[in-house]
Amino acid sequence: MTIGIVGVGLIGGSMAITLREKGFAQKILGSGRSEKSVDKAMELGLIDEKKKLKDLITESDLIILSVPVDALKEMLPQVLDAINDKQVVIDVGSTKEGFLKVIKGHPKRNRFVATHPMAGTEYSGPEAAVRDLFKGKCTVFCDVEESDKDAVALVEKMYDDLGMKIVYMDAVSHDLHTAYVSHISHITSFALALTVLEKEKEEKAIFELASGGFESTVRLAKSSPDMWIPVFKQNRHNVLDVLYELIYQLKHMKQLLVDEEYEEFYKLIEKANEIKKIIK
Ligand code: NAP
Repeated sequence: MTIGIVGVGLIGGSMAITLREKGFAQKILGSGRSEKSVDKAMELGLIDEKKKLKDLITESDLIILSVPVDALKEMLPQVLDAINDKQVVIDVGSTKEGFLKVIKGHPKRNRFVATHPMAGTEYSGPEAAVRDLFKGKCTVFCDVEESDKDAVALVEKMYDDLGMKIVYMDAVSHDLHTAYVSHISHITSFALALTVLEKEKEEKAIFELASGGFESTVRLAKSSPDMWIPVFKQNRHNVLDVLYELIYQLKHMKQLLVDEEYEEFYKLIEKANEIKKIIK
C-alpha cells in the first residue's frame, strides 16, 4: 500500500508514524505548500519521498488530504478529477458541509471518504507530529452512504490501525456538534489569552502565577490561525450560534457579580458542575 499525504503537519505526520509502524503503509509519499515543510517531513522520516501533487496522486493507492479546510475545498475537486476508479481519497478536516457540497455529484465522489479524527494538540507543522496521537480517541465518518463500500472498508481498517473508535454521522450534524464541543473551546481560549495579555502587563507574573488551571484553559490559544480561521469561516453559522450563547452566559455572570448575587452565582456554578456527569 502506498499512501500519499498532502499536508504533512500535525495530523498527516502523526498518521504517517503509526501507519508505517503498523504495516498499513509500505511507502509514504508527501506533498505540501512549502518546500521547507515537506523537506522537514523527509528529514524527520515521516515520509519516504517528496512528490509534486500530480505525481503523488498518480502513485498513491490512498490519498490523505490533511490541509486547512479552505485549501481542502479548493483542492478536492481537482484531486478527484485526477484519480482512477480504484484509488481512495480521504480528508481529515475539522468541517465538512461546505466542501462536501462542492463535490456533490462529482463522478468520483464514490471514491472519497470524509473523516475527522477528533484528536490534536495546539502545535502544528511536521515537527508537531507524534506517535499515538489518535490512540483511544474517536473519529467521525460523514455521509458514508455516498462512498463505495470497499473505500469505506479500507479507511475503517486504517483508523482501526490508528487505534480509533469510529462514529458515523451526517455532515450537517458533524459541523453542528463540533462547533459545540471543539470550535467554541478554541474561541474561548483565544479570548482568555487576549484578556490576560491585555490586563496583565507583567509577563513575569503570568509565568510565575500560571498554575494548572490557567495553563490548561489557555493551552488551545497556542493553536495556529492558519488552521482555525478556515474552520471558523467554513462553520461560521454554527460557531456564531454557540458564540451568542457563550456571550449571554458571560454577561449573566458579570451581572451577578455587579449585583453581588452570590447565591445565584453559586447555583450557576453547581449547574455548570453537571458537566462531570458527561465528562469525568
Ligand atoms: P498543520 O500541522 O498546520 O499541517 C497542515 C499542513 O498542510 C502543513 O504541512 C501545510 O504546509 C500544508 N498546507 C497548507 N496549505 C496547503 C495548501 N494549499 N496546499 C498544500 N499543503 C498545504 O495542520 P493540522 O493541525 O495537521 O491540520 C490539518 C487538517 O486536519 C486540517 O484540515 C484541520 O482542520 C484538521 N484537524 C486538525 C486538528 C488539530 O487539532 N490540529 C484535529 C483534527 C483535524 P506548510 O507548512 O507549508 O504551510
